[in-house]
Amino acid sequence: MNKQSLHIETPLIESLSLAQKVKGRVWLKMEALQPTGSFKLRGIGWACQKYFSEGAKRFISSSGGNAGIAVAYSGRKLGVPVTVIVPQSTTTRAIEAIRQENAEVIIKGETWQESHSYSQDLTGPNSVYIHPFDNPLLWSGHATIIDEIRKSKLIPDAVVLSVGGGGLLCGIIEGLYRNNFSNVPILAVETEGADSLSLSLRAGRHMEIDGIKSIATSLGAKKVAKAAYDWCHKHEVVSHVVSDIEAVDSCLKFSIDHRLLVEPACGAALASLYDPAEFLKEKECILIIVCGGAGVTMSQLEAWKQKLDA
Ligand SMILES: *Cc1c(COP(=O)(O)O)cnc(C)c1O
Repeated sequence: MNKQSLHIETPLIESLSLAQKVKGRVWLKMEALQPTGSFKLRGIGWACQKYFSEGAKRFISSSGGNAGIAVAYSGRKLGVPVTVIVPQSTTTRAIEAIRQENAEVIIKGETWQESHSYSQDLTGPNSVYIHPFDNPLLWSGHATIIDEIRKSKLIPDAVVLSVGGGGLLCGIIEGLYRNNFSNVPILAVETEGADSLSLSLRAGRHMEIDGIKSIATSLGAKKVAKAAYDWCHKHEVVSHVVSDIEAVDSCLKFSIDHRLLVEPACGAALASLYDPAEFLKEKECILIIVCGGAGVTMSQLEAWKQKLDA
């Protein structure tokens, strides 16, 4: 990626706290420090730059979450107007975060599905829809995470990441292949109630789940990208599912251990080390993608914890 990329190169730091219950060392790739608060800016920034160079005059997004914020940020940086269609359930805070980036927010639809289908009506020859996870350009952008790992000289023997729609998964695997790490396995973590990849793998077919029942809304894709499902048959991907409570507890522990707030979507990946997945126990060098997320506050984490503990 050239030096004008919209994302930043993030720190890679060792975590002694997260390594306590496993044999090997644990490294954190701090995507929470991207200017928009999550890794999404890598892929979305890359895609927006590409479409801009091809003449795009408007970007459309249908995400009230981290993808919408990343599109809004990219549009502002490139001087391209952005429209984000969000469902009624979107929090005021998320809407404000998108508006703060100068994007237009249209509240339309009860579910993401409805906002998504409305957003398709707005696309045209110069208005490009930016999908939150199912677009090869996004994957190439996300792959830069592994380019940076290569540059750092770290040689992981496992990568831990969260899976929503599987865009991050596709990008990390692409990055592993283009950096000569094609033998490095992945632990793909989801929360119960947003576990569409896990269900598909167990069923042996690319499946959709009925609805999202997890608080980790950033993992809330009813069906993962086909490419993500297919990768699991070409590359070693081990599926791991944690509860919402474990995800939230991990966010709280992480806020103390590393003084950083992340969404439960990211807490899910951290949970696989705080209560170590069997697969990780004997690894020598574990790389966790700390995917981040802007949709979190300390009081929200505490409220979730109270509700889930009850
Ligand atoms: C989008 C997102 C995910 C999931 O990424 P996918 O590419 O949809 O699998 C995980 N964590 C955070 C914070 C996200 O914003």
